[in-house]
Amino acid sequence: MRISQSDERTTGPMDPQQQGEKVQKTDEQWRAELDDQAYAVLRQAATEAPWTGAYVDQKGDGVYRCRGCGAELFSSQTKFESGSGWPSFTDPVVSDAVELKQDRSHFMVRTEAVCARCGGHLGHVFDDGPGESGQRWCINSAALDFDAGADAA
Ligand code: FE
Repeated sequence: MRISQSDERTTGPMDPQQQGEKVQKTDEQWRAELDDQAYAVLRQAATEAPWTGAYVDQKGDGVYRCRGCGAELFSSQTKFESGSGWPSFTDPVVSDAVELKQDRSHFMVRTEAVCARCGGHLGHVFDDGPGESGQRWCINSAALDFDAGADAA
């Protein structure tokens, strides 16, 4: 996985058809558009309490989109039961959909996952995943919108 060591977010090439243009809004606009919890997670990097999110036990085929901008981020095919209390995935839909950033908050060094399109905070990535990637994408439900039945591009 690609992690930027500085505070700068990495930017890679994106498939323009899938992710579209970058979404930039003022804090005022985000506050008006998002519900309180989505705003706290996406724009203030809050973490929802474990086992409280809408998608922890979500089953069924579909695509998980960014609640901020609608970008396709995760597929139900990579979702697994992690026991952590947060929706967990082995991989993003396409690697460029998500950017990784070093997060030194709360006296820990973690890898933060950010939506590449709108910059919204999604959650964190850990190296103890069960799949081939070895990654566990621990994502807040409040940062996602489940699109049932949609096929990941
Ligand atoms: Fe987004």
